[in-house]
Amino acid sequence: MTTLFLAALLSALFVPFVSAQPLLCADAHLHYNWNQAEVTSPDEACSNLYANDVALAVVSSTPLELPVSLREAGGDQVLPFFRPYARPGDWLTWTRDESVPDIMREAPESGRYFGIGELNPIPGFGQRWDTPIFRKVNDLAKRHRMPVRIHTESSAPDFFMDICRRHPEARFLSADGGGILQPDVGARTMSARRNV
Ligand SMILES: [Zn+2]
Repeated sequence: MTTLFLAALLSALFVPFVSAQPLLCADAHLHYNWNQAEVTSPDEACSNLYANDVALAVVSSTPLELPVSLREAGGDQVLPFFRPYARPGDWLTWTRDESVPDIMREAPESGRYFGIGELNPIPGFGQRWDTPIFRKVNDLAKRHRMPVRIHTESSAPDFFMDICRRHPEARFLSADGGGILQPDVGARTMSARRNV
């Protein structure tokens, strides 16, 4: 009886709120890559997002044009980001690729991109993030006041913190941090540096 009473009371209290406006959300970490584009068109992808109350979508892709096709289909709520991986697999070598800064320069100048990333400096793969190429990409982001989205899935956030420390004027979005890092580590990362 007590349980029934409680259930009735809770539903009376909360039903008016549940039936109010849908809760809109922003997804700051979306990918729309060549292998997703093969099975889901830009129109379908955007319909799925909006059907699930995603009101803002930050998207990066390989190849680099794909997030722009999503914005063309979905409108201003889609914000394409530009990453330095023109081909699948480039994520391991791009920080030593001399052609990357020139390719990256086109992104802000085209007016079609709103940020840079996602970048994947993952420890353990022999990849370097203290190279002149990496610095040039961050300098570009700073100059155009674009946020840089960085993949932070790792057993420790030290490498990410080091990047934030080296580039205090750049603004960073931490992506994938919820994969392995515990919430308290993520919170510490965000509060330690003002540019995260
Ligand atoms: Zn990602």
